[in-house]
Amino acid sequence: MLNLSSLSQSCVKCAKCVPSCTIYQINRDEVTSPRGFVDLLGVYDKKNINLDRNLKNIFESCFLCTTCTTICPQKIDTAAMIQKSRIDIAQKYGIAWYKKVYFYLLKHRKIMDFVFSLTSFVAPCVFKKNDDRLRSRFSISSFGKRSIFPFQKKSFLQTYKGLIESKHKDSIGQDSKNLDSRIENLIDTPHSNCNKLISKSALLFPPLTNSSYKKPHFISFRLIKDAKPYEKNSKTILRNKKVAIFIGCLSNYNYTQVGESLLFILDKLGIDVLIPKQECCGAPAYFTGDIKSVIFLIKKNIELFESFFDEIDAMIIPEATCAAMIMVDWKHSLSYCEDSKHWIKRLEALLPKIHMATEYLYNQTNLLEILKTYNKKDIKITYHDPCHAKKVLNIAKEPRAFIEANYNLLEMKECDRCCGFGGVSIQSEKYHLAYNAGIPKAKNILDSGASIVSAECSACRMQLNNALDNQQANIVFKHPLELVRESLRC
Ligand code: SF4
Ligand code: SF4
Repeated sequence: MLNLSSLSQSCVKCAKCVPSCTIYQINRDEVTSPRGFVDLLGVYDKKNINLDRNLKNIFESCFLCTTCTTICPQKIDTAAMIQKSRIDIAQKYGIAWYKKVYFYLLKHRKIMDFVFSLTSFVAPCVFKKNDDRLRSRFSISSFGKRSIFPFQKKSFLQTYKGLIESKHKDSIGQDSKNLDSRIENLIDTPHSNCNKLISKSALLFPPLTNSSYKKPHFISFRLIKDAKPYEKNSKTILRNKKVAIFIGCLSNYNYTQVGESLLFILDKLGIDVLIPKQECCGAPAYFTGDIKSVIFLIKKNIELFESFFDEIDAMIIPEATCAAMIMVDWKHSLSYCEDSKHWIKRLEALLPKIHMATEYLYNQTNLLEILKTYNKKDIKITYHDPCHAKKVLNIAKEPRAFIEANYNLLEMKECDRCCGFGGVSIQSEKYHLAYNAGIPKAKNILDSGASIVSAECSACRMQLNNALDNQQANIVFKHPLELVRESLRC
């Protein structure tokens, strides 16, 4: 468990963390800056200051974006320290009724399924649908109208269950359109025997005409199996792989196209998919300090994962926040339970197989090589680095590589600046902070000249959509996996 006093003492007051802090950039006040938080947390831990409403308000204004942690020369994890104070806040002041309801639903998936389904019928009365967002019909705060996530009649996990076998296990995930370029690529490889064989194979196929593109057919992997054309470059053999998907609540209930894109890509790669029973990762409750709910969800998930982990090669997560929660913050959270050692040991046995989706696809499959055989489109895309992907898990080049393969990638200014989502409390009780954090981000996206913004995180998606709508910017959001799917469909 974190020792706030000793962490606070290790701060050398260099202020390197201050200028890029999300809340400092809004308030311009040392009190709500990482250096200020660290100082106050040390004083609070020594019981020299009461956790009164003023201090509660200060600690609740941190976005938990972890920007400061990546900059601090002392490696002080201010976000984790603030997180600890949130547990104390929840214990002293309780949790707002609507958050209690929300966390109750997170722990009871069947009821949540029903509530979200019901909401999908009611939502059009209050919100107007525009692409992947719902814009309120009326001003619902002093900041005017607001965009939120859409609601689906049926969640991803209600639609897809159990084992989904790839239809392309004996293919290389290629359609006939790219046969020519693919063969060219293969001939460029230094395997001379392989070249002969491939040249022969190429003769077996008649020249492709436009009409032959209409019906995609799949090249048999067996035909050129002996040449093993992909073995030199690919990091793994795709056939017979089986991965599980951990979908995350926003992709499950709101942005179901993310999971569907992942299913499409894995199918193309010849990888079998297991959609297991799973619970929320607990991130919303974690950021709010409801540690009981978090531990309940972690333990339930660990038990569920253990029941199928021997059968799979990996479990992949297309959501930065859920991935960081499971891969990093579950361990923090478990340190608060009585039998922490036992549960941390069980968690550590699972972690080697858990990956964020683009990281897995980049390092463990030849998806990038396949994408490079497809045409590049003249569509301008800019990529926003979700804090939980880049700052917590160090994942940034992977989604960019997939986008760059088939699109025109334009980097925005401050691509890793926090979007300002901040979690349930910031979105509900301190919306003015989320609103203000979103303004410079939306401007940077607009200035990039892109027509699409992408990020591997649905929380960023909701925040960016709202920020862009507030700036009347006509820019569409697409998850990198949606972009990959669209590339593979061409
Ligand atoms: S986690 Fe983000 S908002 Fe909080 S102190 Fe650090 S940089 Fe500032
Ligand atoms: S960067 Fe680290 S050491 Fe420097 S002031 Fe911030 S928290 Fe303290």
